[in-house]
Amino acid sequence: ESVGPTIAAGEILVEIMATDRGLGFLEPLTLVGPYPSGAPAIFIDQVARLGGGAGLIGCVGRDDFGTVNLNRLRRDGVDVSAVSVSDRYPTGSAFVRYRPDGGRDFVYNIAESAAGQIRLTAEARQLADRAGHLHVMGSTLSVAGLREIVAYATKAVRASGGSTSFDPNVRKELNDGADGAQFSALVDDADLLLPSGEELLTAAGVDDECHAVKALIARGVGEIVLKRGAAGSSRFAADGSRIDCAGFLVEEVDPTGAGDCFGATYLTCRRMGMEPGKALFYANAAGARNVTRRGPMEGIAGFDVLDGFIAGTARAT
Ligand code: ATP
Ligand code: MG
Repeated sequence: ESVGPTIAAGEILVEIMATDRGLGFLEPLTLVGPYPSGAPAIFIDQVARLGGGAGLIGCVGRDDFGTVNLNRLRRDGVDVSAVSVSDRYPTGSAFVRYRPDGGRDFVYNIAESAAGQIRLTAEARQLADRAGHLHVMGSTLSVAGLREIVAYATKAVRASGGSTSFDPNVRKELNDGADGAQFSALVDDADLLLPSGEELLTAAGVDDECHAVKALIARGVGEIVLKRGAAGSSRFAADGSRIDCAGFLVEEVDPTGAGDCFGATYLTCRRMGMEPGKALFYANAAGARNVTRRGPMEGIAGFDVLDGFIAGTARAT
């Protein structure tokens, strides 16, 4: 087991959200933000908050939105040496509004923002060369520069005896242009696969949970941790074992970021040597606590806060 930091790569964004539920952005709304965001940033910040080594490859603009993100990542202990700062492009952004039914509408500015300028720089190579774990998200594969970074970092991490995880994270607005072959290869090579709901079936190409798990394990996936929103999560291992973890009962204020906090916590606990059941329990707590705060990174917590949350929160039975 390689001891280098866990690394992630991809979009660093600010999130700006409508305070009222409704459909889309077709009339003037009250908005709140900027909150630091971007799935890879949320993930890696959670790793750092738990005390795990953490580094991020990304690009922000030379503007306040970039500073909001860099300040947060630095404060929480993330290595940002491979985050470049663009003089030409503004920091990426995501406007989000929650629908009455719990769905979400987004307006993204990513491809033509600094986030779209991400490249395999010398600093990115250096970080990948000393990394012990690479976490990849499907939502980032539509960006050309990301595909090159992922290919390089996968090889580098493998060469130094490290491991990989993959969150398929299918987003209808973002996955156009993703490379199907690279997607399949990432699934096949993942030591840890972190799908949510239907993504398990999409990744396996079958339409039933048990068959999907078997098919993916047969393709070489080391372990599968399935996210089930308020219902909690399940972990399936190559030896055929299964662990289910009921969700914590919380009031969901803002669901964005739960999946990333959950995945980062499971991974970090495992990299610290914790057994799977305990890691799953902490991951459930991290995901549940995150949805109780407005802003995707505002609910990120270290072990002390998670222990307090666990002690004070009931779980579904
Ligand atoms: P994201 O929107 O960030 O991509 P996701 O779909 O990947 O999220 P979810 O299943 O929504 O992931 O959430 C991850 C985990 O967080 C769940 O498995 C669960 O443990 C916890 N969680 C999420 N939402 C809730 C909730 N409303 N109540 C309790 N726990 C929750
Ligand atoms: Mg997800």
